[in-house]
Amino acid sequence: MLSLEAATVRFGKRTALDAVDLEVADHRVVCLLGPSGSGKSTLLRAVAGLQPMDGGRVLLAGRDQAGVPVHRRGLGLMFQDHQLFPHRDVGANVAFGLRMRGVARAEAEHRVRELLELVGLPGAQRRAVAALSGGEQQRVALARALAPRPRLLMLDEPLGQLDRSLRERLVVELRTLFRELGTTVLAVTHDQGEAFALADRVVVMRDGRIAQEGTPLDVWQRPASAFVARFLGFDN
Ligand code: ATP
Ligand code: MG
Repeated sequence: MLSLEAATVRFGKRTALDAVDLEVADHRVVCLLGPSGSGKSTLLRAVAGLQPMDGGRVLLAGRDQAGVPVHRRGLGLMFQDHQLFPHRDVGANVAFGLRMRGVARAEAEHRVRELLELVGLPGAQRRAVAALSGGEQQRVALARALAPRPRLLMLDEPLGQLDRSLRERLVVELRTLFRELGTTVLAVTHDQGEAFALADRVVVMRDGRIAQEGTPLDVWQRPASAFVARFLGFDN
């Protein structure tokens, strides 16, 4: 479904993505882990076409995405700097992208209701976005990214601002939802517990490269290097 081939992004002398090869198979949930500055967000932005690449290719369903604008890539996006529309209410924010994709009004309203329940904001359709807390806004952004049922969902720290109990509940519900809808997911998280609970595969990044990729159990039981072991918290 998604392939990166030698994807490279440079910022001046700094190489944020260093010839990364990565495959994400259909219906899989892949979590990106790695220290701050290791290139996780840059990778997502490159896949979305929001970050020009200095080399390599991004393919979706086998098609080279060079020159394809973000709104034509069939993606659901929730990024660290993702802004809601502050002058529209919660319902309009979540429904954004449904009507223009030709989803009928009744179906759109149904999905908005379901998703707001999922993220723990039932009945919040008419609330003003500007009056929500940071964590509530994050949940609205998550609902908005899920609403169009994208072929590939990319999430950058989707639960970062939420408290532990809400995070734990959402992880379980998201996992079920992704399985039900067959959504392919590429998600960045700082929380290893979250990655290990959600992911079919985890990818650990370091300095713009992939330090290790595998099932959560593989990476946990057989860290490929001292770096990965240290990152996972095994100080041996
Ligand atoms: P974090 O966990 O802190 O979000 P990250 O793994 O997402 O980190 P990136 O944001 O992908 O890291 O950044 C990778 C590297 O590229 C960093 O060294 C960062 O400083 C640099 N970088 C990212 N965006 C830019 C930019 N627009 N201009 C210059 N340098 C950038
Ligand atoms: Mg980041």
